[in-house]
Amino acid sequence: MLQFAVAGVPLSTPKPGGTVEGLKHAHSLGIEAMEMEWVQNVPKNPERMEEIRITAKEGDMTLTVHAPYYINLNSPEPAKLAASKRRILDALTMSELAGVRSVCVHPAFYLGQDPAKVFENLRRATEDILKHKKLFPNVNLAYETMGKTAQFGTLEEVLKLSKEFDLYPCVDPAHMHARTNGKINSTKEWNEMFDAYEKYLGKKSLTYVHMHFSGIAYAAHGEKHHLPLKESDAKWMDFLKVLKDRKIGGTVVCESPLLEKDTLLMKETYDALK
Ligand SMILES: [Zn+2]
Repeated sequence: MLQFAVAGVPLSTPKPGGTVEGLKHAHSLGIEAMEMEWVQNVPKNPERMEEIRITAKEGDMTLTVHAPYYINLNSPEPAKLAASKRRILDALTMSELAGVRSVCVHPAFYLGQDPAKVFENLRRATEDILKHKKLFPNVNLAYETMGKTAQFGTLEEVLKLSKEFDLYPCVDPAHMHARTNGKINSTKEWNEMFDAYEKYLGKKSLTYVHMHFSGIAYAAHGEKHHLPLKESDAKWMDFLKVLKDRKIGGTVVCESPLLEKDTLLMKETYDALK
């Protein structure tokens, strides 16, 4: 089964808002999943996580998390590297308490280094994080495909790293589209993307994906910012058809700035496909 997640508390959530109200409101709109945007910091209150877990369960909603942006697992500065690992570990641990299935992470910047060397640094950092797996037995660490050429995170890189640790990545076709300055926007290319995913992680892995999708503005070095579906060049209806035809299952987070409006547009269009 495939669910479309809203990227954060819906804009139309009644005041005072917040995650719990946002979940209830999303549910009332017919949305089945939410990605909690912990992009500035990770919440630290276990009772609050329990409240979120119960609310999501009551609405039969799936939860994912976006970890903080301030992460670079390739930092040469020991303090920055340690802080990056700590933020990821905190996000995974609190996610376990909230019943979250997968946490998406922007892994690193190349900083002008050889990608193979950066890969080794990320392998070491991932090993360190996963030493604490008992704190988050049910949560996946999802490295994201990134939209800027200075960022670690091609499809091959995140698939290879994920495979080594029995994880699955957060594939963001909009980022891939921006990174390649306009490619990856057709049925053929999305099928190749899923073929690669399947080749690395096995056929069953396509039944529990954690993905992002949105329109996107880009230039030579990649991503500028996200766009609403209808204001972008994304062939989003073709993308939905690929999801349907291949029977992809899991969670697709709609990262459009219109939040619930485009999430519902994706869901309703997908549902109407034969
Ligand atoms: Zn992201």
